[in-house]
Amino acid sequence: MTRPATALACGLTLSIILHAPLALAKTPVATGTGGAVATISEQASQSALAILNKGGNAIDAAVAAAATLGVTDPFSCGIGGGGFMVIYLAKDKRAITIDSRETAPASFTPAVFLENGKELDYEKAIASGAAVGVPGTVRGWHEALERYGSMNFKQVLAPAIDVATKGFTVSDTFSHLTQQNEKKFQQFGTTSALYLRGGKAVKPGTLLRNPDMAKAYREIAARGQRAFYEGPMARAIVDAVNRPPAAQGVSVRPGRMTLADLANYEARIRQPVVSTYRGYEIVGMPLPSSGGVTVAEALNILEGYDLKAMPRAQAEHLYLEASRLAFADRNAYLADPEYVEAPVAGLLSKEYAKGRRAAIDMQRAALNVAAGDPYAFQQDPSVPLRPQLPQRRLGQESAHTTHFTVSDKEGNIVSYTFTIESWGGSGIVVPGYGFLLNNEMTDFDFSGPHPNVPEAGKRPRSSMAPTIAFKDGKPAFTIGSPGGSTIITTVLQTIVNHIDFGMPMDQALNAPRLSERNGATTSVEPGFPGSAQARALAAFGHKWANGPEHPPEEIGAANAIVFNPDGTVTAVSEGKRHGIGSALVQKRAH
Ligand code: GLU
Repeated sequence: MTRPATALACGLTLSIILHAPLALAKTPVATGTGGAVATISEQASQSALAILNKGGNAIDAAVAAAATLGVTDPFSCGIGGGGFMVIYLAKDKRAITIDSRETAPASFTPAVFLENGKELDYEKAIASGAAVGVPGTVRGWHEALERYGSMNFKQVLAPAIDVATKGFTVSDTFSHLTQQNEKKFQQFGTTSALYLRGGKAVKPGTLLRNPDMAKAYREIAARGQRAFYEGPMARAIVDAVNRPPAAQGVSVRPGRMTLADLANYEARIRQPVVSTYRGYEIVGMPLPSSGGVTVAEALNILEGYDLKAMPRAQAEHLYLEASRLAFADRNAYLADPEYVEAPVAGLLSKEYAKGRRAAIDMQRAALNVAAGDPYAFQQDPSVPLRPQLPQRRLGQESAHTTHFTVSDKEGNIVSYTFTIESWGGSGIVVPGYGFLLNNEMTDFDFSGPHPNVPEAGKRPRSSMAPTIAFKDGKPAFTIGSPGGSTIITTVLQTIVNHIDFGMPMDQALNAPRLSERNGATTSVEPGFPGSAQARALAAFGHKWANGPEHPPEEIGAANAIVFNPDGTVTAVSEGKRHGIGSALVQKRAH
């Protein structure tokens, strides 16, 4: 069922494009005192800083930054999606997480992505109402503010409303991403009207306003999260999912979402995954994100080697192999813990890691390994089953999202990754409200048997890995990144670069990224194949994804904060990738 293009002009406020001055200069590293923020967007970092300067805490500033990212980076995140937030509460000296992952509508069954018994084409499944999960972001912000913030929606959404109303300058990266998604966006009238001009991507240097998104934020500012989950905005979402605003002649698979699905949505407060690595305490995101568990398992495997005493290529070979083993387990076992009894304790056990380590050949890449048996290490009699799971190849995943981090002068910290899944999510902009709906449901495995098959109310397994590391009971650094399943390897590699190779965080972030997810080839970035580092690793049998189907591309867009022993903080964003990130501190050290 498609809706004729003529019907969607209603409620659609056109954005106005004007020529504007160049974007603000970004600084990817900043050291100083007070609060700190690192995001991929100058405006989002400025929003967080403005809230910190008004006396808001890290949680308030995080929501302000997130809402602004929804305006300036709408293809990676926004209120049409979901995410995972790790919060450190300085006064209580404890960390807690908020899971605002999208849930499957009540109409979902394991067969939702099958047609005549066959898996649907992945790209077709993305640009559809059927791919849209019940968005969790607004509920997540609500929980964060209500429980741990000091300001209300009205205060923290003000900077984002300002950016959406006054507009922002389209960057090269933004224009390029729009261009990459022209075909998807052309399928939806609301989306073309907002981000395309005559069917083509908006050009760099133009001023892009999004008054509809400003309206959506104003409604949330006035009425709280209910403005999103009940009433006119909820009806507009359900309508866009079930009757996607497809352009004339375009047929798009509709979803089956109800107002009850939205009204019933709940974010979850979850205990973090806590592991240790060489004297650091690593606090990460639990299931349904596989991020925390997989990073922890790989670090446990690596802990048995003296990486810093080894030639770099030897150490990097081990990093790739540890990641491969952890991914084999992630792919086999991890899914929504409310639906599946995943053997998390076993996967996190140091003894289990020892056994996995024994499978590594010091000189030879394994190329593909089987999942291990963590059940013997569960020490949890409530998990008696040892399901024989089929070997899975890594499902298709897109590599987009945003991650950022904020701290305040009291020492509270937020590490937050949120997304709408693919670049531009499902491609559907909700009529009248200016935000894109996610395609998070394609993070489910399309067919089983597998713990991560679609089910009503279930949350698809994620890779998001917002992380905070502690040393001697004090915050040491935060790290996180976008990038689909490469999120896990980016976080893992940055931790190894920083802790084992002793790189300052900016170098740890800017180093070439290698992502091994138990495939025959390792994902690498442009310029890597043929380099001396690549040749040294090739001697161990590693092979690079370097063909026309998987050309090297930028991996991730990480953001970090380092808490220095002298009491200063260093905010670190990307120095090269994704158009360079923006790091700010309240009081800059000179
Ligand atoms: N959907 C992905 C996940 O939850 C994130 C999107 C991405 O980074 O590509 O892991």
